[in-house]
Amino acid sequence: MAGSDQGLFAAIQAAGHDPARPFLILPDGRELCYGACLTGAGQAAAALVAAGVRPGDRVAAQVEKGPEALLLYLGCLCAGAVYLPLNTAYTDAEVGYFLGDAEPKLAVCRPERAAGFAQLAQPMGARVLTLAADGSGSWPAAVLAAGGPVPLVPRGPDDLAAILYTSGTTGRSKGAMLSHGNLLSNAQVLVEAWRFTAADVLLHALPIFHTHGLFTATNTALLAGGSMLFLPAFDADEVLRLLPQATLMMGVPTFYARLLAKPGLTRELVAHIRVFISGSAPLSPETHKAFAARTGHAILERYGMTETSMNSANPYDGERRPGTVGQPLPGIEIRITEPASGRPLAAGEVGMIEIRGPNVFQGYWRMPDKTAAEFRADGFFVSGDLGRFDADGYLAIVGRDKDLIISGGFNVYPAEIEAAIDALPPVAESAVIGLPHPDFGEGVAAAVVLRPGAAADEAALRQALGRELASYKLPKRILFLPELPRNAMGKVQKTVLRSRYQDLFTAVAG
Ligand code: AMP
Repeated sequence: MAGSDQGLFAAIQAAGHDPARPFLILPDGRELCYGACLTGAGQAAAALVAAGVRPGDRVAAQVEKGPEALLLYLGCLCAGAVYLPLNTAYTDAEVGYFLGDAEPKLAVCRPERAAGFAQLAQPMGARVLTLAADGSGSWPAAVLAAGGPVPLVPRGPDDLAAILYTSGTTGRSKGAMLSHGNLLSNAQVLVEAWRFTAADVLLHALPIFHTHGLFTATNTALLAGGSMLFLPAFDADEVLRLLPQATLMMGVPTFYARLLAKPGLTRELVAHIRVFISGSAPLSPETHKAFAARTGHAILERYGMTETSMNSANPYDGERRPGTVGQPLPGIEIRITEPASGRPLAAGEVGMIEIRGPNVFQGYWRMPDKTAAEFRADGFFVSGDLGRFDADGYLAIVGRDKDLIISGGFNVYPAEIEAAIDALPPVAESAVIGLPHPDFGEGVAAAVVLRPGAAADEAALRQALGRELASYKLPKRILFLPELPRNAMGKVQKTVLRSRYQDLFTAVAG
């Protein structure tokens, strides 16, 4: 029932899940059932009200993953507050920016950060409460003291449910405003698309400060009434131990690559799994194929972003094409345009990916100009990702707009070069970047991680690539690294590589 005018929490309540069914299953076997989950959310809402939080107020949280952290999120939905999760890696300086920008009424942090938070929260008069990894702290004490659950604050589809700050690798990080309608419609679409039911057990090893673990995984499970095996973090051995209890898993590509490195990942171990889903970063066709060969499962790759939740996915039934992110999800329009003019492009042509639908966010918090600049007049959001549709309507992402390399006037799409490099036998993974070059403007450079025990030299790899790629696409330099710099979601941080090697060509030439 897409297009519902209920808020997200009301829709979860209205689904009438069996109160005795587990919502969370912890690695040690402890469970939080649906009855306790919904009551706990109502009690968290009571504590928010007691802390002075009114509908529309922001509540920031920089806390470890755990049941209490999820109940805080659900409490915000229930109280009509706007949840603002923060990456646990952010420093006080970074947190200071987010608190100053979002002006929350309440900030919940780990006890060891309480003093820093108190200072940062002072200018906006926000209260600071604590939540430790073991579930103790002044926040849980406040929940206990607040007593019984308060009634749900009704929310409409346009009311804000959350603000998620984008990772902001360049410039200021932006707060993407997500409404109840955005989150609920996407969860409804994913329940259908991935056939999620109350019988499902989702293996959840993702962080919950990001859209993937918080919305794609959690909201979908909550709406369907399914269970989540809730791991504090990804650990390949622990995942292998718990997979027999799961029916599906969602992960970033690194999870799948790390599982493949374990001989314990066998066809028998995962024969009962319904589906493995991947997103947040490109899944290399090599990993896709190796996983299928080892387990018999074709990973379902999908594409989304903080601003839009999920946009497209490979089919549940039907061909899952390696190197593509599938077709637009129901009710969501995706078009490819010429970036400068917005002119729609035909299948096969590379251009800007633009998205329109009930999933698309309400704009960037307190940045009307930035928001206006990223929407077309007809309501399409300009994603900043470049891609192309094939003749069958499967979308392939070729990289972020800002990662496009223009070398000697030619466009070089990093994803194409990375695919060619990753297909070479000694290579485990690669990242292709453009660096300032005295002749070409930008020169193509590749950072390559070899497979364990493999050997290769730059000249041999370049020669092998020369058989696949036009000369202007060929990396002028290949750098061998022990690993690629990645963020918490497994995304390669190309800005880190670009700044580390910015003088690579100019120093050689100079
Ligand atoms: P975030 O807002 O942190 O979720 O990052 C969103 C970005 O991750 C997108 O704009 C894409 O650039 C990238 N992304 C997400 N899913 C995929 C995917 N399946 N393949 C390639 N890139 C992806």
